[in-house]
Amino acid sequence: MDANNESIEDWVNSENIQTTKDVEVPKILFDQVIGQEEAGEVVKKAALQKRHVLLLGEPGTGKSMLAQSMVDFLPKEELEDIVVFHNPEDNNRPKIKTFPAGKAKEIVRQYQIRAEQDKKDKSRMIITIVFSIFIVGLILSILTLNYYIVFLALLVAVMIYFFASMNPAMRSERAMIPKILVSHTPNDKPPFIDSTGVHSGALLGDVRHDPFQSGGLETPSHDRVEAGNIHKADKGVLFIDEINLLRPESQQALLTAMQEKKFPISGQSERSTGALVQTEPVPCDFVLVAAGNLDALQGMHPALRSRIRGYGYEVYVRDSMEDNEENRKKLLQFIAQEVVKDKKIPHFDKSAVIEIMKEAQKRSGRRGKLTLRLRELGGLIRAAGDVAISEKASVVTSDHVIKAKEFSKPVEQQIADRSLEIKRLYKTFHNKGAEVGTVNGLAVMGANSGMAEYTGIVMPIVAEITPSQTKGHGSVFATGKLGDIAKEAVQNVSAVFKKISGKDLSDLDIHIQFIGTYEGVEGDSASVSIATAVISAIEEIPIKQNLAMTGSLSVRGNVLPVGGVTAKVEAAIDAGLDEVIVPASNFGDIILDQKYTDKIKIIPVSTIEEVLDEALEKSDEKKLLFERIAELLKPPSTISPSK
Ligand code: ADP
Repeated sequence: MDANNESIEDWVNSENIQTTKDVEVPKILFDQVIGQEEAGEVVKKAALQKRHVLLLGEPGTGKSMLAQSMVDFLPKEELEDIVVFHNPEDNNRPKIKTFPAGKAKEIVRQYQIRAEQDKKDKSRMIITIVFSIFIVGLILSILTLNYYIVFLALLVAVMIYFFASMNPAMRSERAMIPKILVSHTPNDKPPFIDSTGVHSGALLGDVRHDPFQSGGLETPSHDRVEAGNIHKADKGVLFIDEINLLRPESQQALLTAMQEKKFPISGQSERSTGALVQTEPVPCDFVLVAAGNLDALQGMHPALRSRIRGYGYEVYVRDSMEDNEENRKKLLQFIAQEVVKDKKIPHFDKSAVIEIMKEAQKRSGRRGKLTLRLRELGGLIRAAGDVAISEKASVVTSDHVIKAKEFSKPVEQQIADRSLEIKRLYKTFHNKGAEVGTVNGLAVMGANSGMAEYTGIVMPIVAEITPSQTKGHGSVFATGKLGDIAKEAVQNVSAVFKKISGKDLSDLDIHIQFIGTYEGVEGDSASVSIATAVISAIEEIPIKQNLAMTGSLSVRGNVLPVGGVTAKVEAAIDAGLDEVIVPASNFGDIILDQKYTDKIKIIPVSTIEEVLDEALEKSDEKKLLFERIAELLKPPSTISPSK
């Protein structure tokens, strides 16, 4: 059965469960990753063959989960412990040895016992010498009746004791004890090391600075060696998210480590005494999983990427999945999974599951899809759980989810809400009447901030026309961050203008103003609104103010789809408007929350003429304008850019 046609309510209600407690959660991490089947297959194959992987895609879609699940598929290899030893021939070049997993601790213990014994032997020897000198002095002083001799002997004995204990040769037991860099217990899984955002020392290993460089107090250099994540990931998986933020030198070093499967540890800060030290090469036979957004490719060292392409796989993960029965089941599993993982929140009843699933539909931004931006959806699940706990409820219900959505609004939404209050207060936009040159545009915020959700805002746009300063040299004046978009929009549609209005734009200066725009407002979908405002200003036909619009305009005057339509329609409803014009091709993408359904008339349009017909107030001028348009539209259509 195709669940697409079945409502979420019907589907959830027909499932044989009371709450998510009745839903089975897979034990293996790999099976907990939902919606990334292709990426999953690739990652599994890569693990079996020990290949590197580059995982690109939106944040919170399961990239690190996939990387982590690889350790279950890595070929069974013996894990090894890595130990660093003092090098008696060259203190600055400590020796590296490997042992079977679990052995390192035993070996170091043996060295410790031997060193203790050694220390005891030495102290015993010193004490014997010192005591003998004192006794000899005492006997001599008794025989000669010269008591100064005993004092002299005492003095010599104390001095010998002091120098002996300061002498590095006598303190060498510390240098004898090796240091464990990496250790395991014999049945350990291969390691998974998340190395996102760490500095080069933590990634590649480091040698600590020694403030006492000489005089017998220095720490032996091997004792200051620290393993890097590349070494800790030996025989396992090294995961680095936001790989493009890794410094080029570190990427270069990483590449060397991948090629050689060994990488010596040296001090990473140049002016530290650690920089003098470099160990023998340390094993680092890891599978690299590098991750990032699509634009991570730009910041990636070309040689590193080419290494991965040559010896591994590149995968682009999905940010949404088909809304069908199979995937709804997976999403149900996800909700149960997040509840179990959290350990604190109660399970979800059917009404709460319905609410979360609808949110997953909505956040996908397209009809027939479910979002895979699951980190954020998981956030909503936890927030709803917290609401239930605060209300001492034993299960989470739809009420809790709805409340959680309200208080866990993204910052962009909070700004939009507040700016709406201010706009209402100062009446920067109207929601009734009609006005020349003023249109309620719709924009979104947060589209580029990595957020899964869009936040819509009403953005009034005002156009004014003045005769150009010099005939034939009309310009477009547009202020603010969106200025360039406005100019482009006017240029794109100038051919349409010319045909429709019959006026030569080159004799006019067009001024366009965006009222109350904020940082982060995306305006590329405002071209339909800009065109409408300009045409209204030129023709002096008022625009209805109880209406808002969004859409992108082609040079031919067609209305093209835009992003974030649901959020925009919701913003229009919040602003108290009655009608909203949207691109016909976006109509299916609008998925409104219950509190928004049937609150506004949604008008799908395909051409600028339809926009004008809906938006312009009835008047004689409008009639004339449409007669002209009808004339122009007589076949063959001439609404096309002038040839
Ligand atoms: P990414 O690495 O892509 O940013 P993560 O793998 O760290 O995302 O996902 C963060 C959290 O979001 C996971 O711990 C899990 O709870 C949830 N999550 C994200 N994607 C998925 C997925 N595809 N399947 C199940 N859970 C997911």
